[in-house]
Amino acid sequence: MEFQLTEEQRSLQETARRYAQSRLPEIARHCEETNHAPGKELVKEFAEMGFLGINVPEQYGGLGLGNLEALLVLEEFGKVSSAVGFPVFESCVGPVRAIERFGSESLKQRVVPAVCRGEIQVAVSMSEPQAGSALTDLTTRAEMNGDAVVLNGTKRWCSGGGHADGYVVYCRLSEDAGARGIGAVYVEKDTKGVTFGRPESLMGFRGVPSSDIYFDDAAVPADNVVVPAGGFKKLMEAFDLERCGNATMALAQASGALEDVIAYVQEREQFGKHLVEFQAVQIRLAEMKMRVEAARLLIHRAACNAQHGLPSILDSSLAKCFSNEIAREVCGHAVQLMGGYGYSREYPMERRLRDAWGWGIAGGAVDIQKVNIAGALVGRRFDQRR
Ligand SMILES: Cc1cc2nc3c(=O)[nH]c(=O)nc-3n(C[C@H](O)[C@H](O)[C@H](O)COP(=O)(O)OP(=O)(O)OC[C@H]3O[C@@H](n4cnc5c(N)ncnc54)[C@H](O)[C@@H]3O)c2cc1C
Repeated sequence: MEFQLTEEQRSLQETARRYAQSRLPEIARHCEETNHAPGKELVKEFAEMGFLGINVPEQYGGLGLGNLEALLVLEEFGKVSSAVGFPVFESCVGPVRAIERFGSESLKQRVVPAVCRGEIQVAVSMSEPQAGSALTDLTTRAEMNGDAVVLNGTKRWCSGGGHADGYVVYCRLSEDAGARGIGAVYVEKDTKGVTFGRPESLMGFRGVPSSDIYFDDAAVPADNVVVPAGGFKKLMEAFDLERCGNATMALAQASGALEDVIAYVQEREQFGKHLVEFQAVQIRLAEMKMRVEAARLLIHRAACNAQHGLPSILDSSLAKCFSNEIAREVCGHAVQLMGGYGYSREYPMERRLRDAWGWGIAGGAVDIQKVNIAGALVGRRFDQRR
């Protein structure tokens, strides 16, 4: 077992860190204030710098590095903010990876290299008004009609909704009940019959646009079917990688908060001494550090166990659940340690706490991860309906 990053990994991490810290804080502030995603030009710049599709195979326009390398970069971007990290998240662990794994060769060539070049962004649309945790209750239908597939239904909470150029839409592709009838179709934003709800106003995730999506006889080529009915298991396997990205974004809120607060408590004086001199503050810092390090180890283990593949449901659920929970705790401690400055919107700390909360709902609530973990422990899936 080797717990050191290689020289190349350290160098990549350092490059990402320097770029993120110098280029992105002002942009992150703007995304937060306006609730607008980073501009297209910036996403192209990410691509030129080699920060998109890090773990995507070279034949599809990626760098061909491993999952760990992608997550190292993602953490550095996520420390600045979820909004500026989101394009990296989408390109390395997002739904485009399901296309790259399971789509037809022509669909892969049409979509994946364009994402890696920063030309388009692809979002995932799974949730529906009546299908959140109970995802297999989804009702959006896709029916074959000649060489087209026609979608009807309503989707909810899509991160990137109305902003992303394409959507991997989970839908019913056969009459089979439950998971057996579910597959996924790639739908471009400007497809006739696709409309978007008003931009959601969430507690956090500002700068990651979110909206409902409505499909009203929206027809796309049959080649856009990413996985046919019966492919739900495959979609969930690809989602195991997305879970590690979610865990990393949650970790980034916590590790970014810890870095900032370490500097703060060594500057701020009360009662004639720096805050860091108080033992209660020292203990709080130690507890934050323990949680951040443990979360990072779980994430890195999940990534390293599947450097060029898809992590297991146990590894990825452990990493996501733990990181989601500690991110809320650690960011809460950081807000406390910064007092009024932690609670002020002038500083990024309260934003991290709000975003940390969101990562523990997005991609499956923490309680659902615990059900996954228990299922893996006893070697079976627990049916939540019985
Ligand atoms: C910031 C953010 C971003 C998101 N991005 C996307 C996206 O890009 N694409 C997309 O499709 N969706 C997205 N979602 C939706 C997300 O996947 C769902 O919100 C999530 O799966 C929970 O579904 P729900 O909101 O319907 O809650 P519900 O399913 O109603 O659950 C509410 C709560 O009930 C509890 N609960 C439910 N079932 C169980 C159970 N079986 N056991 C124990 N407890 C249970 C949990 O505590 C859960 O948090 C996003 C959500 C958020 C908050």
